[in-house]
Amino acid sequence: MSRLPQTQRALQFNRVGGPEVLEIATSAPLPSIKPDQILVKNAYAGVNYIDTYFRGGVYPASPLPYTLGREGEGTIVAIGSSVTDYKVGDYVGYMGPESQAEYTAVSANYVIAVPAGVEPGVTAAVLLQGLTAFTLIRDAHEVKRGDAVLVHAAAGGVGLLLCQLLRAVGAGTIIATASTKEKLQLAEKNGATHGIDYSKEDWVARVKEITGGQGVIAVFDGVGKSTFDGDLEVLARKGSLVSFGNASGVVPPFSIGRLSAKNLKVLRPTLFMYLTTKEEFTEAATELLRFVKEKKVDVKIHKIYSLEEAQQAHKDIEGRGTTGKLVYKL
Ligand code: NDP
Repeated sequence: MSRLPQTQRALQFNRVGGPEVLEIATSAPLPSIKPDQILVKNAYAGVNYIDTYFRGGVYPASPLPYTLGREGEGTIVAIGSSVTDYKVGDYVGYMGPESQAEYTAVSANYVIAVPAGVEPGVTAAVLLQGLTAFTLIRDAHEVKRGDAVLVHAAAGGVGLLLCQLLRAVGAGTIIATASTKEKLQLAEKNGATHGIDYSKEDWVARVKEITGGQGVIAVFDGVGKSTFDGDLEVLARKGSLVSFGNASGVVPPFSIGRLSAKNLKVLRPTLFMYLTTKEEFTEAATELLRFVKEKKVDVKIHKIYSLEEAQQAHKDIEGRGTTGKLVYKL
């Protein structure tokens, strides 16, 4: 094994703020591994909207300097003493913090071997968003054949994967919202049966119209503040509002009594609370990567950035100009 360096490059910030607070630390310490961890030399790391929440102060980031990242892909360069199922040299994908750096220490519970036939960069592109989409339609609200559902920001990273998985499980009416015609066309290519430009149209009225006044049985909403009230309106009796993100801002407190008019459910899930054990992660990640390998799921990569282009990546995703996934190549 080649000797490991003492320091590394890592994408960090020292204070919360706009994309300009992002910087590359050139001599960040190499992480040390605990007995149940492995050390990965990253080849790729996924960009996720959550990176902007930490950078911008929506979610607390400590300690500072804070190294960003939630998923990656690369070669194992060191193994903790209690890890038995991986070895140095294995090429793996993983979920875990501080992935936007040259090296990441990650719990072996959240590691998956990259199957032959899955292109480099694709595992880092699909793991977190794919598993999010998967658990949202399986665990948050189990979508059944024929269901009418609504997906907001349907041309985004999670959105496009949601559309594909909803089509795969046989949802009947898959209504997509997005902010441009091109994004809606992409969502429709990925499984949406109807598209609404929610930046221009009265999307609440359109959802009611498309569903013949019935409404949808589930809304999958990563947009948050700006769509929450409308979601309650377009849900059918006993429907579920699955609110899983805050791209437009955090949903303000609301009166629980608003749910009783239609016996609605509101959920605010996070992926890591669905996949808490090695078995849960491995089962879901294996199935997701099998889907990718068999081309049942298409992973649309918007752009591959260098770590040095991180400010631009944040501007792009927050500026609503991206479709699919943004990835860093280390
Ligand atoms: P996306 O690629 O979907 O980017 C966000 C999209 O949100 C934009 O492209 C934009 O699409 C839409 N949007 C709507 N309003 C705004 C606004 N005011 N400012 C910026 N964007 C807006 O990102 P991801 O796929 O990474 O994440 C999607 C959502 O899922 C995020 O909220 C994220 O936090 C959440 N998430 C939650 C997880 C969980 O465990 N709970 C796990 C993973 C993601 P358009 O222009 O079409 O409106």
